[in-house]
Amino acid sequence: MKGNMISWKDLYIGGQWVRASGAEIAVVNPATEEPAGVVVSSSAKDLDDAVAAARRAFDGWRTVPVERRLAHILAIAEGMRERQDELVRLIATEMGAPVRLGRGVHTGLPISVLESHRTIADSLRFSTEVGNSLVVREPRGVVAAITPWNFPLHQIIAKLAPALLAGCTVVLKPSLEAPLSTYALCQIIEQAGLPDGVVNLVIGRGAESGEALVRHPGVDMVSFTGSTDAGRRIGSLAADLVRPVTLELGGKSANVILEDADLPVAVKVGVANAFMNAGQTCSAWTRMLVPRSRLDVTRELIAKYAVANEPGDPMDPATRMGPVVSARQRESVLRYIDGAVSDGCELLIGGVDRPHGLDRGFYVRPTVFVDVPPDSRIAREEVFGPVLAVLGYETEEEALELANDSSYGLAGAVWAKDRERALDFAREMETGQVDVNGGRFNPLAPFGGYKRSGIGREFGTFGVEEYLQVKSIQL
Ligand code: NAD
Repeated sequence: MKGNMISWKDLYIGGQWVRASGAEIAVVNPATEEPAGVVVSSSAKDLDDAVAAARRAFDGWRTVPVERRLAHILAIAEGMRERQDELVRLIATEMGAPVRLGRGVHTGLPISVLESHRTIADSLRFSTEVGNSLVVREPRGVVAAITPWNFPLHQIIAKLAPALLAGCTVVLKPSLEAPLSTYALCQIIEQAGLPDGVVNLVIGRGAESGEALVRHPGVDMVSFTGSTDAGRRIGSLAADLVRPVTLELGGKSANVILEDADLPVAVKVGVANAFMNAGQTCSAWTRMLVPRSRLDVTRELIAKYAVANEPGDPMDPATRMGPVVSARQRESVLRYIDGAVSDGCELLIGGVDRPHGLDRGFYVRPTVFVDVPPDSRIAREEVFGPVLAVLGYETEEEALELANDSSYGLAGAVWAKDRERALDFAREMETGQVDVNGGRFNPLAPFGGYKRSGIGREFGTFGVEEYLQVKSIQL
């Protein structure tokens, strides 16, 4: 490290740090707009070397007993815990997440996901008998893991831990927006003593290194998290090669507050959810559905609770919301806000102006539109910024229709006085995950999309099974 600048120009390939031979790319601190580090992208040869290292490692790793593979996963968790403060600061620097959020969802959660593999390993059956057949599950091979910037380490661990437990080896390509914490993670992986080549790091742009990795003849499976557009492209490349692919994509999740729900609690949790990570969360509840008769009270509650999310310096322990990741992201979010105002949507709080006292940094004011028409862009498209759309409904049937009226289906919530009633509603929602009355995130439960939110699942045994293929042996 040189002063505050991080300059890591190496790649982690075959257990060695080797100098990358592509172009230099600056990493920008979104809170200051200053350069925060420099990385160097991989050349075609670097990619070949990384895939070759993963291939060589696969033959040995697949035969390592699952208990020992688990021990390596737990050693990574331990290493992350030891360097947690540093990881939190790196994530704050590269993508602007406040340090108070950094200790929780950005680093604490991936540590618990790694540790959840203890329970998963206990319940996984690599071999079962069906009549006269032995059904065995075998690792798919070399996995290309391509991840986004919004929860850099969480997204990586969501792929790495299950792939490693299954017996796969990995070539990881993180997002260029937030690669710095990934370097630290690879140092932790090195310390955790995994055999050389089991995990490899390459760096580069999606359309170049990303696509080259997806198409690489030495790759057996692609695991992608990111935008629906990139997912569509990757899916079509993989389809051409008949290569297994999992896609974790975007969302426009509905937070449905039923008539008899505890409105203040549901609104408070809903607002915090929509603005968490400056709204850059694929599973964010960006549509709040409220009985039309309660819209006025909802307006008052939102105004009261949104104040807690005033943006500020991510390094300040009191800050709940930092900037968005980049100038480009800020412009895109502001265009959505501007468009919604032009479309005549009712702006309750926020807007396109800079937050008070913040004259630099990619900050966006937490913004809420109320009584939004269901066909407006703000109600249908993923904004990926701190923007919440509140929609009114008359009947529960209409609420369900609105909740399901989306091309996405990643997450959601439902609130009711009676849990059974909420559960009945949850069963009807076309989405991969639903929280009933604020049910907590469970790292053992599968996560993934219905409809255009993706293909496949992460977490729990379902997550590991994506990295396994099934063979029937008749006896
Ligand atoms: P992105 O699609 O631009 O990039 C994600 C990753 O894919 C990056 O590493 C990028 O370099 C790479 N990439 C981009 N185009 C590629 C291509 N053609 N071939 C191969 N690789 C390519 O997404 P982003 O801006 O980094 O992240 C935000 C998006 O991710 C949002 O849409 C969000 O909803 C989604 N997301 C989904 C989940 C989920 O679990 N469903 C989680 C987090 C983020």
